[in-house]
Amino acid sequence: MKPFPVNLTYADFKEGKFDKAVLAVGSAENHVFHLPFGTDTLVSLAIAEEVAKKVEGLLVLPPITYGVSLHYDDFPFTLTLRPEVMIEVLTDVLDSSIRQGINHIIIINGHDGNIAPIEIASRSIKVKYPDSFIASLDTWWVKAGELLPPDTFEVWDGLGHAGEGETSIVLHLYPQLARMENARGVVPSFPDGLDIKWKSSEITPYGATGDPTKGTPEKGEKMFKALLDCVVKFIQEMEKAGWKYGEKTEL
Ligand SMILES: [Zn+2]
Repeated sequence: MKPFPVNLTYADFKEGKFDKAVLAVGSAENHVFHLPFGTDTLVSLAIAEEVAKKVEGLLVLPPITYGVSLHYDDFPFTLTLRPEVMIEVLTDVLDSSIRQGINHIIIINGHDGNIAPIEIASRSIKVKYPDSFIASLDTWWVKAGELLPPDTFEVWDGLGHAGEGETSIVLHLYPQLARMENARGVVPSFPDGLDIKWKSSEITPYGATGDPTKGTPEKGEKMFKALLDCVVKFIQEMEKAGWKYGEKTEL
């Protein structure tokens, strides 16, 4: 039985004894000529579903398939929520889940534009429900690079929109959806120091950044496995700790 409420009856739900949930958050945006528009949802949902197979009592919430993609909307066919709408959507989903009795929630995010809304919504919900526990994997594309040996990627640490890392993970999970004959990218340069709030069309003529031609299913498999291990271990350790954290060491 898949712990995914779209497939579950109320009877299944009761039998599942779900005490925690995982929420995949994606986008519906241009991923250039070689990856599908739904890449960010497909990848985050794949992580969520695979984690749920390894962790008892973990309900996979229906994913949020739209994200904040204003900064990518120069490239068709990008559909975006406004940031304030995204915050409201996330807030309502988290709030509903907690009111339904599941107050340990793990968020798997697939898209950079959702990071700030996830932060704002989660912080507000935590204040409203102090007994809740919310944790997020905000940037799997950065985390995979941190978890794997430094020589895993060939260009720009595997980063980029539809770049080496993201292309690799799609080639591992959904090879039938990629059209690698169209893959091409560019590595933009940024000054050190502060974060520039760029718009995609300023930093790439195609929509892609990084080098998707270096993407391989083997790299994607390593990324996916490392991310799964990280999330599963995190949940298991939190359960062991009774979802408590923040023990203080006297200095
Ligand atoms: Zn993406």
